[in-house]
Amino acid sequence: MYDKNNVFYKILQSEIPSKKIYEDGVALAFYDINPVCKVHALVITKALYVDFHDFVSKASPEEVGAFFGAVAKVAKLLEVDESGYRIVSNIGKDSRQEVPHCHVHILGGEQLCQSSK
Ligand code: AMP
Repeated sequence: MYDKNNVFYKILQSEIPSKKIYEDGVALAFYDINPVCKVHALVITKALYVDFHDFVSKASPEEVGAFFGAVAKVAKLLEVDESGYRIVSNIGKDSRQEVPHCHVHILGGEQLCQSSK
């Protein structure tokens, strides 16, 4: 069950600011407030899904494809498309997902460690 009381919902509503990188009909991208590497961005769905699993289970294939297209566009805007980058999506308790709104981390700009995030 989606709970609107989360920080990404508030960013979508422009109730709190973000450092926006990109926006289209399905996705909004902004810089992570607490970067763990040189380039750390978040791409969130505009529609209200709790996590990536919820999104892929309920959204149309077109919306899922458009979201991944947006992720790739953001990586290009951030100029990590050639050097490489990692995408991570935390899903639920065991992943330690903090914000219950579907999002993908883009991590790059330097050599990353072998484990995720
Ligand atoms: P996750 O554990 O995948 O849910 O990660 C949530 C991410 O959101 C963390 O990396 C936080 O640093 C980031 N975050 C939390 N609040 C904000 C905010 N107001 N603006 C940008 N990033 C945020």
